[in-house]
Amino acid sequence: ESEFKIKVLEEKNREIAQFNYVASHDLQEPLRTVICFSELLQKNYKGKLGADANMYLSFIVDSSIRMRKLISGLLEYSKVGAGKELVLVDCNKIVRDIILDFDAILFEVKGEINSDPLPTIYGFELELRQLLQNLISNGLKFSTKKQHPIVSITVANTDKEYTFCVGDNGMGIDKKYHDRIFGIFQRLHTKETYEGTGIGLATCQKIVEMHGGKIWVKSALGEGSKFYFAIPKKIKQ
Ligand code: ADP
Repeated sequence: ESEFKIKVLEEKNREIAQFNYVASHDLQEPLRTVICFSELLQKNYKGKLGADANMYLSFIVDSSIRMRKLISGLLEYSKVGAGKELVLVDCNKIVRDIILDFDAILFEVKGEINSDPLPTIYGFELELRQLLQNLISNGLKFSTKKQHPIVSITVANTDKEYTFCVGDNGMGIDKKYHDRIFGIFQRLHTKETYEGTGIGLATCQKIVEMHGGKIWVKSALGEGSKFYFAIPKKIKQ
């Protein structure tokens, strides 16, 4: 009977993932039209509309562009875990690539990314990369703005699992929000102060769970944050 229940649940999960994918994919199309025609209005009616109309138009364009980011985040989220293959992944290489990708940002914010020697593990390569990238990018983004951001990656090795930690010297997170931030679209800041969609950590959680692991945070306001995730050495597929 429990086997039957699992089958039903798996089927439901597939349906939800499929729904997410289709919905976010199909939402892009009408949005593209809205953005395109608003931009045409802005361009072709330059100087002919009043100040109010110009302002309304720029609100429409800004919001549509933001919605495009939200939808593409949702699409990314829904793609995690579909028909992937377990391979041996060298986490050092992932971090090296991320540091190269973040070169310009690191230069701009005078930031630093340090890492322990990391293990080679069985996992889903693109997803592990996305996971580390989201955590590192948050560590750089949510800095105190008074100190240069430093992100440090460490790892603890036990019999059953590797526990990674991505720590930063940033603004920190009040304990009462520690669960909430892993929810989809959940953010603690307005889009004006820190840019983002609130999908990053939800995606991280989904990725860690597809590896059979757990993700959590230790942090207090003003004391930096440490994001931990544990990946079992034997992953059941
Ligand atoms: P986004 O980065 O797009 O806002 P996330 O899902 O990655 O969305 O993060 C959700 C929220 O959690 C962020 O908006 C921020 O308030 C908080 N947060 C995440 N990482 C950190 C961090 N390293 N330091 C402080 N706050 C963080």
